[in-house]
Amino acid sequence: MASNNTDIRYLKGVGEKRAEILKSKGIDTIGTLLRFYPRDYIDYSDITPIYDCFFNMNVCIKARVTSYVSEDKKRPGMVLYSFTAEDSSGSMQVVLFNQKYLANKINFGSEYLFYGKLEGGYYMRTMKSPEIFEVGYSGIHPIYKASAKMSSKNIEKLTKTALSCSLGDDPIPQSVRDKNGLCDLAFALENIHFPRTKESLARAKRRLVFEELFILQTGLALLKNKKRTLSGSVIKRDFKAEFEGLLSFPLTSAQSRVIDECFADMASGRVMNRLIQGDVGSGKTAVAAAVCYITAKNGYQSAFMAPTEILAEQHFATLSALFEGSGVKCGLLTGSLTAKQKREIKEDLSQGRIDIIVGTHALLTDNVEFNSLGLAVTDEQHRFGVAQRAKLAAKGKNTHTLVMSATPIPRTLALIIHGDLDISIIDEYPKGRQSIDTYCVDSSYHKRIYNFIKKHIAEGRQAYIVCPLVEENEELDIKSANEYFDELSKGEFKGYSLGLLHGKMSGKEKDAVMRRFKDDEIQLLIATTVIEVGIDVPNAVLMVIENADRFGLSQLHQLRGRIGRGKHKSSCILISDSKSEETAKRLNVIKASNDGFNIADEDLKLRGPGDFLGNRQHGLPDLKIADFASDMETLRLAGAEVRALLIDDRNLESKDNRPLREAIEELYQKLNG
Ligand code: ADP
Ligand code: MG
Repeated sequence: MASNNTDIRYLKGVGEKRAEILKSKGIDTIGTLLRFYPRDYIDYSDITPIYDCFFNMNVCIKARVTSYVSEDKKRPGMVLYSFTAEDSSGSMQVVLFNQKYLANKINFGSEYLFYGKLEGGYYMRTMKSPEIFEVGYSGIHPIYKASAKMSSKNIEKLTKTALSCSLGDDPIPQSVRDKNGLCDLAFALENIHFPRTKESLARAKRRLVFEELFILQTGLALLKNKKRTLSGSVIKRDFKAEFEGLLSFPLTSAQSRVIDECFADMASGRVMNRLIQGDVGSGKTAVAAAVCYITAKNGYQSAFMAPTEILAEQHFATLSALFEGSGVKCGLLTGSLTAKQKREIKEDLSQGRIDIIVGTHALLTDNVEFNSLGLAVTDEQHRFGVAQRAKLAAKGKNTHTLVMSATPIPRTLALIIHGDLDISIIDEYPKGRQSIDTYCVDSSYHKRIYNFIKKHIAEGRQAYIVCPLVEENEELDIKSANEYFDELSKGEFKGYSLGLLHGKMSGKEKDAVMRRFKDDEIQLLIATTVIEVGIDVPNAVLMVIENADRFGLSQLHQLRGRIGRGKHKSSCILISDSKSEETAKRLNVIKASNDGFNIADEDLKLRGPGDFLGNRQHGLPDLKIADFASDMETLRLAGAEVRALLIDDRNLESKDNRPLREAIEELYQKLNG
């Protein structure tokens, strides 16, 4: 009989073609299909009259089709189908994009259920790409994240079939379920997809949220335990004072404390696994430099990995200058060195003639060998996966690991998210740090902003303009970096030296542009968020952000961190035409605060959790149902259960805990594979 681990291909109703589509959504087994939870539900006892609906919120409307479907070929590959539908309160227009099959099934005069967001139009209310159902449905109904190739209804049907397969053992041990009043797996899966009542949906959800956070935390705890028992290279002698003598500034007390924390780890005999969290500009590089220095003076090599060539070069320049004459030797390894240079560096490294090697992913290649690697440092860790970090450390025996992150997350969360690491926080800025003035304006200010930029360029300074990433979306009138660059270089900034930087460029191209900006050959850089990561261009004093409402607050803060790095007064200008109160609130947070942690807290509150920790910023798997912010209480409860469980069964070896163990293994396989 088909079960949890059966390939999705063998589920009744799935052929080769559908299996491919499902796999592209991450659904490769019957189990993963069952864990593909609805993104929403329609409750048919909750039908709203068209004229009572709030705009831009998911609603369910029951309406009769009162026109024929008209077809409008917008451009090749884009056909709009539209028709009107009416209930006793009024009428709306329904628009379908390219959904020919669906459009053909709509009958003039028939009544349907429409689920989607209603938008207010000048002439008429409109619902774009709704889910459409025949009337006659009742109860609570799942809505899945659909695509043109696989509708919500398709997924629903397959899920129904899958539920009759063997569901596997419950990963939450019975005792934990009992204690926390959680329903069992079968009930949960049935009711998350096809809830019998609102209450049973709530029970199912509570259990699945608990389960997800429970498995995640158990996995992290196991990982941490395992690492704790490993012995680390012995770094016994402290050279912090000597290191401080090399600096041109005194360490902040936060920097000093974090260096001590690292040293204590390395001197303990066990291996260090530490994350340094510190806002942009808090001086993480100096801390890493200190730890590398201490390591070198104890006779071990360090590897310092950065996500881009330019950042690696910057760190190399900083460290070589700092350690000049101290006897500690630095090297640089990046993809763009010549074959000969690479060979020499690798030779020096394996012979132990280099103490600190700074580099990019190039450090991970197989033929990079160390003489005595004692410490692996990763800068901007969110740009690397857990696996890459591990790969670097694996180049030595008992290698200490230090990772640095400038993506501040609320403290409570950090402990859990980075469950396999110990955390040090740099919660202080170097003295004399520039305060940056931040302004929020609408696009009527463009002319003035351009003049402002020109004035600064005339004084020899440089500026950034950042545009949001744009997907193909004809409905959003947003300037893409490309178009904007063309427009400005032919118009307003004709005769100036402009640069363009975006994510579609290769790493080499990006580095080349960034280097020219750093060398002051580019006066104005038009970019997408690719400039977010740690580059130091002290002469850049303006950061103009177009459509600022499209960015997360933490991202805006990171972008702003690119300026205010030199002795000149710096300003950040946020442009937004959004009229919403929510946007105004968000942008005001940025305007009012220069503290990344504070901003992260506000971001979490305002933006909602889904977005905040979305897109795998932290090397953790995407959460399917739980959500770090609103499920904080469950997170805590599950954490307590994890600790209790591991006291009794440290390595999850008992029979009762086997299903949990398997669930964890599956999760981490995904993460590392
Ligand atoms: P980040 O934490 O964002 O990586 P950096 O390490 O790039 O920050 O440091 C930002 C700037 O602050 C650098 O120019 C660095 O030289 C300077 N800096 C670091 N620590 C101190 C300090 N204790 N006193 C003064 N300036 C410092
Ligand atoms: Mg940095």
